[in-house]
Amino acid sequence: MRGTSLSLVACRSLNTSVQHLLNSIDALLGDWLRERGQGAYRVRQIRHWLFTRRAADFGEMTDLAQSLRAELADAFTLWTTQVARHTRADDGTEKLLLTLTDAGQIECVLLRDEVRRTICISTQVGCGMGCVFCASGLDGLARNLTTGEIVEQMLRLQLLLGPDERLSHIVVMGMGEPLANLDALLPALEEAGRDDGLGISNRRITISTVGLPRAIRRLADAGARYRLAVSLHAPDEALRRQIVPVGEKISLADILAEADHYFEHSGRQLTFEYVLLAGVNDSPQQAEALARLLGRRTALVNVIPFNPVAGLPYRTPTTAAQQTFRRILESHGLSVRFRHRKGNTIDAACGQLRRRSQKGDAALFRLFRPAFRPSARP
Ligand code: SAH
Repeated sequence: MRGTSLSLVACRSLNTSVQHLLNSIDALLGDWLRERGQGAYRVRQIRHWLFTRRAADFGEMTDLAQSLRAELADAFTLWTTQVARHTRADDGTEKLLLTLTDAGQIECVLLRDEVRRTICISTQVGCGMGCVFCASGLDGLARNLTTGEIVEQMLRLQLLLGPDERLSHIVVMGMGEPLANLDALLPALEEAGRDDGLGISNRRITISTVGLPRAIRRLADAGARYRLAVSLHAPDEALRRQIVPVGEKISLADILAEADHYFEHSGRQLTFEYVLLAGVNDSPQQAEALARLLGRRTALVNVIPFNPVAGLPYRTPTTAAQQTFRRILESHGLSVRFRHRKGNTIDAACGQLRRRSQKGDAALFRLFRPAFRPSARP
């Protein structure tokens, strides 16, 4: 039902005097309604329409007077992005490529399994971290997303759900480094968590970070209780510096210390992500070293076999190498999950869809596979 409304909401162009409501719903609406002598309960009504009833337009908010709906539509926009591409896989995964008002593009994904409806959202246009295997950072960072642009991804993906489906999880694992844009991200996640927002509890929201120690500290100090996934990708400092250049001045020891501090404050089990690159970081010795590095932490290790990116020289390790890597980690008592990207359909790698689109590649509509769904053993 809701899927059809996308085309309707995609076309509203942004007039600069019109404010993006999703940037700060309570503050913007509160002031505006007060000036018009409207009660504060109207904020609750509008929130309910947006988050629970999935309204795509003020016009749908039928318990508001028609004149008020028209005034709201003049003063605010809900949608600043346009859907440039909407792809669906036969397993229910849907991916949106969104064009922003300044023509930048971002991606976001809806993943379905038997019970979960997980969305994966972006926080920046491009990425400045420069991880050598990642498509998102190949063209560097263009800019941070606004809170409104982050909330908009959530609502656009929610509009893809059928009436009996409900969003259950959020992973902040799309394009960009979330902890480099905390100012915009935290208010957006607050909207996700609020009972009068999307109502998704903090433990069902995961932020994935390249590992910025000061920002992890800020998250802990802010009392955040989101799950934190820290991208390690190497068991020693020298190799990490090569794979994650932004980490040049950041030691693994500092990252682990701040991750431990976050665990103590939030009570949330940590996840460590490790992209497995054939011949680079996938040897049995490196698995041993990773196990030593993580020691007795009660953490989950999320191993991600490399998802090929056009033009990059890395390879996905063989199934045998993946199994050996897993066995070694498990033999040291670590909980291991493999996030397996089936096939070599390269559009699944985050950032890849955008690159192809910008190059005008007609192969864009090729079926893609879920990028963030943990699989059974490889
Ligand atoms: N900036 C955040 C979010 C990145 S996306 C971070 O660094 O954690 C989430 C995960 O996917 C990260 O661990 C990232 O390193 C990984 N990833 C990116 N490109 C990949 C690729 N081509 N194959 C496998 N994993 C990839």
